[in-house]
Amino acid sequence: MENKNEAMEKITSLAKRRGFIFPGSEIYGGLAGTYDYGPLGVRLKENIERLWLTMFRDDRSDMYGVDATILMNSKLWEASGHVSGFSDPLVECQKCHHRFRADQLEDEKKCPDCGGGFGEVKQFNMMFKTHAGSVEDDSSAVYLRPETAGGIFSNFKNVMDSMHPKIPFGIAQIGKAFRNEIAPRDFIFRLREFSQMEVEYFVKPSEWESAFEEWRLLMHRFAERIGISKNSLHELEVADSDRAHYSNRTIDFEFDYPSGRGELWGLAYRGDFDLSAHQEASGTTLTYLDEETKEKFIPHVIEPSLGVDRTLLAVLLSAYREDSLGDGRVYLAFPPSIAPIKAVVSPLLKNKPELVAKAREVFQALKTVVPQIAWDDNGNIGKRYRRQDEVGTPWCITIDFDTLGETKELLDTVTLRSRDSGEQERLSISDAIQKVYTSINHGA
Ligand code: ATP
Repeated sequence: MENKNEAMEKITSLAKRRGFIFPGSEIYGGLAGTYDYGPLGVRLKENIERLWLTMFRDDRSDMYGVDATILMNSKLWEASGHVSGFSDPLVECQKCHHRFRADQLEDEKKCPDCGGGFGEVKQFNMMFKTHAGSVEDDSSAVYLRPETAGGIFSNFKNVMDSMHPKIPFGIAQIGKAFRNEIAPRDFIFRLREFSQMEVEYFVKPSEWESAFEEWRLLMHRFAERIGISKNSLHELEVADSDRAHYSNRTIDFEFDYPSGRGELWGLAYRGDFDLSAHQEASGTTLTYLDEETKEKFIPHVIEPSLGVDRTLLAVLLSAYREDSLGDGRVYLAFPPSIAPIKAVVSPLLKNKPELVAKAREVFQALKTVVPQIAWDDNGNIGKRYRRQDEVGTPWCITIDFDTLGETKELLDTVTLRSRDSGEQERLSISDAIQKVYTSINHGA
């Protein structure tokens, strides 16, 4: 896409117009750093999350799930270092009082909004603080979790005691996280409320490298399955000087956003930092006993951490296409497995009851095997195709007079039109259903 702002504007406007993503609290003028998912966005998000659950948790025999609370005992965030250190450097313009992240201003010495001078750099803690219960003092302070990982570490012992897993094993969780970002920006790239898909994978200290490699490869496979191309995804080895002291290796997976290359996901080797810190602060033993060697140790951790919203943004940007079919069209080339609508069923004309009745029959038959489908009998067939292209529906099925047997040999056949090629083929109803089903379940 040509110009960087134009590319993001096209996606933002399509996402709103077609029911994917709306600005949060829009009728009240919005709330910075918040976006809501609309009917098609919810499906796309759920399909991405479901695929992640399948690949990162359910297809494996060494993974367990948890769904922990957003509000947690504040001692946990003290132990993890978030209360003292989860901050970004903030500067304020002395004239217009706009605030900026000092590390994102590059070499600018003056306020980009009014040219005023900056005050000194302060550390700004990004956790949202609130109070649990009716008394508002320090003893009731709680935080909205800034990452989902905390709820995984706090349940490490519970999962061990209830499920008796053998090392290596991991715990996966999808959920909301909150960060009071100084400058939310770029649509759903930097939000104040977002979702994460995180794994904490517990290994023997000597085995961290092979586990790290395994998750690195899985993250690439996941990118491929959701339509993020290899050439738009880049691994950045985080340099020693930028890495947390306890980590021997961190990779940022970066994506080419219209505004430039930026973080999409992270993969970190965290040593025994987290479990050791929680063991010390909570007084609860968080060691693992190796039954064979009788050795007791604190497992080391590999953490693949994926933001749901950034993933969805990368999926939308990767899927966006403009081509010259007809008089020019826009379409979203989602992999069928994550497309919010897999197929649309239409009668050629909506005022012919016999066509509508047959189309309803086909719709019902398809819906029993492919639940995420839609019905469309508005406007002419060309407009319907255009509408479905724009929301990334891989298949359109049209029922016409030949389906009813007007041409004898074509009885019970339909037209199946492909989103990507725009080509149409005549297939029996059952073959068309089979083709749609197969593309979703076996296509990448
Ligand atoms: P950044 O450097 O962009 O602030 P981070 O390194 O702080 O990100 P992590 O703490 O590693 O991010 O969080 C893991 C993942 O959560 C990120 O890779 C990203 O996908 C997502 N994420 C983090 N912060 C946000 C945010 N403010 N809005 C949307 N997604 C986010």
